Amino acid sequence: MTVTATEIWRQRTTTVAAAEKNLSALSLALSQQTERAFHSVELVVEATALSIEAAGGLERAGTETLHNVLRARITGVPQISGLAVINAQGRVVNGARLFPSPTDDRSGLDYFIQHRDTLSNAILISPTRPSLVDGRAIIPVSRRVSAPDGSFQGIIVATVDPDYFQQSFRRALPAEGGASAIFRSDGILLARTPAVDGMAPGRSYGHLPIFRPDAPRHGLGWGASPMDGAVRILAYDRLDLYPLIVNVSLQESALLADWYGNSGRLALAAAMATLLLGGAAFILVRQSRREEEFVVALRDSEQRLRFAQYALDHAADMVFWIDAEARILYANDAAGSRLGYAPTALVGMPIDRIDPHFSSDFWPRLLRRLKQRGTVRFETTNLTADGGAYPAEVAANCVAFAGADYVCAFVRDISQRKLAEAALAEKTAKLEASNAELEQFAYVASHDLREPLRMVSSFVTLLARRYGPLLTDEAREFIAMAQDGAVRMDRLILGLLEYSRVGRQERPLVPVPLAEMTAQALRALAVAVEEAGATVEVAPDLPRVMANEEELLRLILNLLGNALKYRHPDRLPVVTVGWRREGPEVVYWVADNGIGIAPQYHERVFGIFQRLHSRERYEGTGIGLAICKKIVERAGGRIWIESTPDLGSTFYFSLKVA
Ligand code: ADP
Repeated sequence: MTVTATEIWRQRTTTVAAAEKNLSALSLALSQQTERAFHSVELVVEATALSIEAAGGLERAGTETLHNVLRARITGVPQISGLAVINAQGRVVNGARLFPSPTDDRSGLDYFIQHRDTLSNAILISPTRPSLVDGRAIIPVSRRVSAPDGSFQGIIVATVDPDYFQQSFRRALPAEGGASAIFRSDGILLARTPAVDGMAPGRSYGHLPIFRPDAPRHGLGWGASPMDGAVRILAYDRLDLYPLIVNVSLQESALLADWYGNSGRLALAAAMATLLLGGAAFILVRQSRREEEFVVALRDSEQRLRFAQYALDHAADMVFWIDAEARILYANDAAGSRLGYAPTALVGMPIDRIDPHFSSDFWPRLLRRLKQRGTVRFETTNLTADGGAYPAEVAANCVAFAGADYVCAFVRDISQRKLAEAALAEKTAKLEASNAELEQFAYVASHDLREPLRMVSSFVTLLARRYGPLLTDEAREFIAMAQDGAVRMDRLILGLLEYSRVGRQERPLVPVPLAEMTAQALRALAVAVEEAGATVEVAPDLPRVMANEEELLRLILNLLGNALKYRHPDRLPVVTVGWRREGPEVVYWVADNGIGIAPQYHERVFGIFQRLHSRERYEGTGIGLAICKKIVERAGGRIWIESTPDLGSTFYFSLKVA
């Protein structure tokens, strides 16, 4: 096959243009992947800082619990080879995966010194160096931990494995002549694939043009490599979130090998290069997505953690985490302030300092019970820092984490509730006593008052009978009025006696059929119904209610009697008895078309001796409805009126359904 020089040159240009395009895409994809990988690391470092704050500061960060938290946190972040928490003296207090021993002094590390002397919580990416633990290369990513007042507490350092990037770059690059590297923006090399003698990570290449501060964010170029002298086509990207630069390059000789050979496979070579780079970019994009999902999940869980932490810190109730040895691991702000301790002073304290019931020998038993039952609620007494005590309500739950048992206790100060309960009990007792006294008084008074009244009444009758014929008409009228008064007084006393009798003995409530009671009452009122020319309608299927039979009959008699008595002068009485179910209760009513009651009297008519009419118009003592109210209320029900003056009234009462 013959190819013209122009054609060959055209094909070279096509190959190069395709390679440049794909190299740019690859550089962008690798830089995004790198950014996400560092972002995951930053989130872990941030979350660790948060856990340390939650555990009560770096002073208390040495616990097994925190160690487990850290270990769980770096699971799924393969680029992190180790995590260490270092205190202000440079001693390692906690860590996960690979971390130095507590006896090692890290205060001389340059990033330790930098964090100590700079008041910033931003993360720092240090040059690649050999690990002091196992000699393998690490990229330290660290952050300062500050006390609330800003003073230096220590640092958190995550060591990132450069091999993680080298491997994933290798997968993305073409097999021949491809290279990729991560630099800090000051030119220090962090990782490169393939490894080249003399190009060690940690060394600075700051003199190269791409590290100039005014270099563009993204670039493409040709040139001889400062490492191996080979001519390369190179693309680079500067990261947005971190001061890092990622580059990808391809050796010109590899790209144009076939072109130099002027072979007919040139087009194929171009296509291959395109495919290789394009495919690699595709793989990377997919990988990046997975990274991105992980970062999003991590960010979500961090956010949930922050929400939960905020809620705990600001809860009104006290919250404690207690370990299997009965020591407090965590106490929220409410606990500190109610008990009178500084927020961190509670951490590590044995729980029996706060609740003496939980002595070290009782604690294992409680733990066992909690494990069986899940949650246990009880009331107890808590001791405060100043020796005070208050009643508390506790809901304790047993929770297992990483093979160990913990107790999460929600504690509420119930002193106010206890005071209110005591006050209420005292008031109720007083009220009951005065009620009993009043009933006793009414009973005795009415009983004893009838005796002299009977005497007055009999002597007045004797007077009328024996001396009546000798007296004037006026004197006989006076005697008749005195007799009338005595009879009325007797009725009032009887009413009072009856009123005081209602509920004097505790009679149990039993199922009583409303239908039968209504029928009995109507039989007793047959004459009155007849005389009034009244129509009475009773709803069918009246249910049974919980009541005392005698009292229920009295109640219905009073209501039906009133419905007949307070009839309208212009029409014949129509009385309707009805009912309805309302949840666990039955509402029973007696409706009439009588004179009605004005709204302002709807409450008053239930009072003792409360009457709205003169004796001349309607006979009565004014005690019937008071008795009704007492009967209904003693059976746990309610009585009320609906009425329109001149149209009629409906008296309702509710009782428990039987
Ligand atoms: P008494 O009927 O002996 O006067 P009650 O206690 O039974 O006493 O009733 C109190 C007052 O309520 C009555 O005086 C009357 O004014 C009013 N009242 C009771 N029932 C009715 C009714 N069905 N219609 C109109 N008014 C009534």
